Amino acid sequence: MEKLTSPRVIEALLKKYDLHFNKRFGQNFLIDENIVQKIVKAGDVSERDLVLEIGPGIGTMTQALSDHAGKVISVEIDKKLIPVLHETLNDCDNVEIVQGDILKTNVREILGDQLVTMPLKILANLPYYITTPIIMGFLESDLPIESMTFLIQKEVGERLCGVPGTKAYGSLSIVAQFYADISIDFEVPAHVFIPKPKVDSIVVTLKKLTVPKIALENKELFLSVVKASFLNRRKTLINGLTMNTPFDKAVLMEVLEVCNIAPGIRGETLTGSDFGRIANELNSRIS
Ligand code: SAM
Repeated sequence: MEKLTSPRVIEALLKKYDLHFNKRFGQNFLIDENIVQKIVKAGDVSERDLVLEIGPGIGTMTQALSDHAGKVISVEIDKKLIPVLHETLNDCDNVEIVQGDILKTNVREILGDQLVTMPLKILANLPYYITTPIIMGFLESDLPIESMTFLIQKEVGERLCGVPGTKAYGSLSIVAQFYADISIDFEVPAHVFIPKPKVDSIVVTLKKLTVPKIALENKELFLSVVKASFLNRRKTLINGLTMNTPFDKAVLMEVLEVCNIAPGIRGETLTGSDFGRIANELNSRIS
């Protein structure tokens, strides 16, 4: 049988099931077998693993995951694709398809007891319209995730891996790097999708940390300090914090002095650890 990466096969399946690419669901299907294999390889999937796949589409990456993983559970929002997946994955005994919105699915429940016995890896060619909520949702969840390998918009990948002092660096970089070690695997050109997306793409792997890089006394306060510092990127750190947190300027000045951080710098020059120290100092003044 011809591969699902063949545009001819995709068109034939869509015709048979009377379907069209649904822009609303960010449907850009992969048509390059080599890229599919490279993503599975980057995810380091083995038969010990339980894999959660988000958005299987017509099952292209699901077939490759089925070849390498112990068990694959794929969550697809588009009801119309479910009968297609039952056809294309008919021979894949270790694959389970769940219809639903990944942002509203009780993932722990659908993964069941296998979660206790098998390492969990999450892989996806993500729908770009909800990349950030999906990634942050899994980073903040208490699921025992070993790693996540995602094909995403290049610009988001660069922000996830952003380092201080660069344009890509911001609250997403700091918060994501608080939870995970993040690396870029490889870039993906637009012509390997049907239809072609308007943006460049990249594959990233996030390895969830078991011990956080920063020992935080109050995680919520840390998150709000980070967000406050990047809300007005052109403002100085002290002005950003004064405008966007409930603390008095005098208290903030005192805290920055204790942390040995100049109030006139911009937030984008600070590391996650710097923000952690600021948040811990502020926390000691409210508790
Ligand atoms: N995995 C396929 C591939 O690589 O060819 C399709 C990838 S396509 C970029 C994204 C897929 O995610 C589509 O099948 C889309 O219907 C599905 N999707 C979109 N939003 C979703 C959501 N909230 N929950 C689950 N699946 C979603």
